[in-house]
Formats: sequence, C-alpha cells, structure tokens
Amino acid sequence: MRVVSGIQPTGKPHLGNYLGAIVNYVKLQDEAHANGGQCFIFLADLHAISQPHDPAELTQNTREMVATLVACGVDPAKTVLFNQAQVPAHAELQWLLNGTARMGWLNRMTQWKDKAGKNREGQSVALFTYPVLQAADVLLYQATHVPVGEDQKQHLELARDIAQKFNNDFCAEDAPLFTLPEPYIPPAAARIMSLRDGTAKMSKSDPSEMSRISLTDDADTIMKKIKKAKTDAEPLPSEEKDLEPRAEARNLVGIYGALTGKSAQEVLDEHGGQGFGVFKPALGEVLVETLAPINARFLDLKDDQEALDAILARGAARAREQGLPTLDATYNAMGLVRG
Ligand code: ATP
Ligand code: MG
Repeated sequence: MRVVSGIQPTGKPHLGNYLGAIVNYVKLQDEAHANGGQCFIFLADLHAISQPHDPAELTQNTREMVATLVACGVDPAKTVLFNQAQVPAHAELQWLLNGTARMGWLNRMTQWKDKAGKNREGQSVALFTYPVLQAADVLLYQATHVPVGEDQKQHLELARDIAQKFNNDFCAEDAPLFTLPEPYIPPAAARIMSLRDGTAKMSKSDPSEMSRISLTDDADTIMKKIKKAKTDAEPLPSEEKDLEPRAEARNLVGIYGALTGKSAQEVLDEHGGQGFGVFKPALGEVLVETLAPINARFLDLKDDQEALDAILARGAARAREQGLPTLDATYNAMGLVRG
C-alpha cells in the first residue's frame, strides 16, 4: 500500500480540505504504517505557482501548512512529509510525461475550465499543465491509494490515462513501469460547499473569508461565520430527499453529519423541523469542538520555523531517495542516455 497526496500552500486550509482529504491522510497513514506500506504527503508548492502569487506569502503559507497538517495528526515519523520544490524528480518526471499527455486530455479538465474562466489566453502555461505535474506526483512513488476530494477525481483519471499510455508505448506488456493509482474519496464529505454559495466548492482561493471555515479559526470566528452562512428561510425537513433542491441547507447538514459520523438522514432525525436559528448554533458547537484542539496544536507549532523547515528537509531527503528508481526507469524506458 503506497499512499500519496498533496495540498497546495495557497492559503489557510479549510474545513473542505480537512473533511475531504486530511482526515483520510491520517487514516491511511496509520493503515500504511501498520501494514509495512508507505505514506507520502507533500505541499504542492510547484502547483501553487500556477496562479499569480506573492513569494513571501507562499513561504509563510508553506510553513503554516506543515504546522496545520501536523496539528491534524499527520505524523512526520510515519509519513514522508515534504514540499515538491525540494524533490526535483517531480518536475523532471512531469517533463518526461509531457511527452505522453495529450492536449485534448488537458483541454477537457473541468478545473482548468473553472479556474481559467473566460480568460484562457491570459493564464499561465502551468495552470494548463497542472494535471501532468499531479500525475508525476503520484506515479513517481507508485501510489496505490490517493486520498482526495471529489474535485480531484478527474485529475486522478488523467493520471491513470497517462500511466496506461506510457506503459503501452514504452514498456513490455508483462513489465509495466507505472502502477495505476486509485482515488480514495470519502463518500460523505467529498465536496464541502462554500458558506456563501451552495453551488461553489469551499476553496482556499475564494476571495471571501466568510465563504470558508479555516482550520485555524478561533471559536468566535467559527460561530460568526456559521451564523452568517447563507441559507433559505425554511426549517430543516425531516426527509433527506427534501434537502435535494436546497443546496445551502444540504451543505450544512452534510458538514454536521461528517463531523459527527452520522448520515444526513440521521442528522434530520435529530434536527428536522428546527429553524436555522437553532441548528446553526448546534453546528457551530460541533465545529468548535472538532477544531479547537487542532487550533491549539497549530498555535504551539506555527512559530518554530526551524522545526518546521527541518520536518520538510527530512521528508524531502526520504522522498528523493524513494522516487529515484522510478525516475531512472522512466529515463531508461524512453531511451534517454544518462552517463
Ligand atoms: P485552491 O482553491 O487553491 O485550489 P483548494 O481549497 O481547492 O485550494 P487544494 O490544495 O487544491 O485546496 O486541495 C487539497 C485537497 O483538498 C484535495 O484533495 C482536494 O480534493 C480537497 N478539497 C479541496 N476543496 C474541497 C472541498 N470543498 N470539499 C472536499 N474536499 C476538498
Ligand atoms: Mg484546488
């Protein structure tokens, strides 16, 4: 079992990142550790530069992201925790796989269409080729399990297509080089939506702070954001099917369920008939209970720059070593001569 996943240091991680991805990093890290497997979690700083960014902020976000991941339970003794920029094999393998990926495949990616909007011509080349780097990230370590939110499913399918085509083009049928990675997507919390718009996913890059709960928000901020979350005026229904047309209500019920380990119907069995004036404070309390210990650990860790950088440096050294055999084999399979 080889678990690989990444998170971009593009801002403060939020509840969607936590429920959609980070909770599963911790779960799979422990499973891999118990079974003699390996878990790699990286900060996708090379992905972060696909959008305009401020260098000082990227540095700070990178350190804060390490502190947050450790505060959430990612354990650098069990997991290879590092940033891409210290492991050149990610960028090297991406270049090699650029020869395999097709323009048409990338053109179909919904994240590219969403993030580029109407201004495709004005986007960085990196935003377009982002999924090829993502394929390199997971193929480099022969990932079997990739814990991600629903929005990354399409990119994972692309990584499989790239691996398959490379294996077909350059490898003997009985000796494929790349393992085809499987997405590991949580059924309940795969897609947490914005608190301001039930049709847009919660994102670090949303300009509105009120659209998301950050993992480092204090109790007052959490309560304020939940109370201000957009909703309709109806009380909660008692049947899950009646949530279907109510995106905002569905999202809040989904968050409550993901935090308490209950299905949407179980949440409605308890809270159906309540107005948001009653349900929102109950949700806020559950959130504070989950996030307060994470926040406390984060505050303890976040200012020890030396310790945070040391975690990344140690993880990067292990990642460089573990990625090397696949990188070498890729150069060889393609017939590139290297001394
Ligand atoms: P950005 O807006 O900069 O793309 P992001 O919030 O989408 O940031 P990423 O770093 O791109 O965060 O993604 C990290 C992980 O979190 C991925 O596995 C992604 O699928 C997951 N994720 C992101 N947003 C959500 C969400 N709203 N619900 C569930 N999972 C999510
Ligand atoms: Mg994203």
